[in-house]
Amino acid sequence: MSAIDSLPPLREVIANHQLSARKSLGQNFLLDLNLTAKIARQAGDLTGCDVLEIGPGPGGLTRGLLAEGARRVLAVEKDTRCLPALQEIADAYPGRFEVINGDALEIDPLEHLTPPIRIAANLPYNVGTELLVRWLTPKEWPPFWQSLTLMFQREVAERIVAQPGSKAYGRLAILAQWRADARIVLSLPPGAFTPPPKVSSAVVHLDALPEPRFPADATILSRVVAAAFNQRRKMLRASLKGISPDIEAHLNAAGIPPTERAEQVSLEAFCALARELAKA
Ligand code: SAM
Repeated sequence: MSAIDSLPPLREVIANHQLSARKSLGQNFLLDLNLTAKIARQAGDLTGCDVLEIGPGPGGLTRGLLAEGARRVLAVEKDTRCLPALQEIADAYPGRFEVINGDALEIDPLEHLTPPIRIAANLPYNVGTELLVRWLTPKEWPPFWQSLTLMFQREVAERIVAQPGSKAYGRLAILAQWRADARIVLSLPPGAFTPPPKVSSAVVHLDALPEPRFPADATILSRVVAAAFNQRRKMLRASLKGISPDIEAHLNAAGIPPTERAEQVSLEAFCALARELAKA
């Protein structure tokens, strides 16, 4: 297959800059540039968009994003060892690539970005979930981003797209699907990474909806869903007792049998319950 750019292959980049993967930084690199270009294509039409990338490492996905036509890529990378390799990419794409050296959980890159903004990342899994929750719970909706294209442990990806009635269905599914369209766009075996992680991975793509799928107050919805799934085996009239003394009446008014368990309740029904509770 043809090269996606004029830069050296990633194995060479890693050898030249001695980027041995560090477990403490969750480093499992993608070294196949055709694969990183494929992931970048899942991020949607990048032309005319600024892309925020978290954790570029040696830059495989970065190169995919740039080759796929991103107007600009802004990357946040914690590992200073990666900076010289990333500088080579900046030199090859003048004015289109900038790196901030720091922790994505501490830095607010917003001031460096111009809308429309898409986010793409192959991140350590713990940081990925935390950032996803932050990106899905901004103070105002629509958020600053148009879409998120993120690598997750397969099991977490399944929780994001889960439907009622499945074990994977819970807070993450409600949070993601309330204000975004979420789907798994790619599955990757451990062998796609260097070094291979223990589990399979999947890329999830989320498109922000202009407004929530069903009206509800974000704080009330979040409290209800947290209480319901914290005791997911209990009937809702028991698990939600702490939310309101009249919970049975509110459940009935929302059209939810009080004997139902959280796992069976649709996003639409949770939103109806949040609206009933807001009236009280
Ligand atoms: N994107 C590269 C790829 O696909 O080959 C690297 C992926 S590797 C799974 C995760 C990257 O995130 C590493 O480069 C690591 O140094 C970086 N990283 C880890 N924690 C971070 C954090 N809190 N903020 C920014 N980058 C972080």
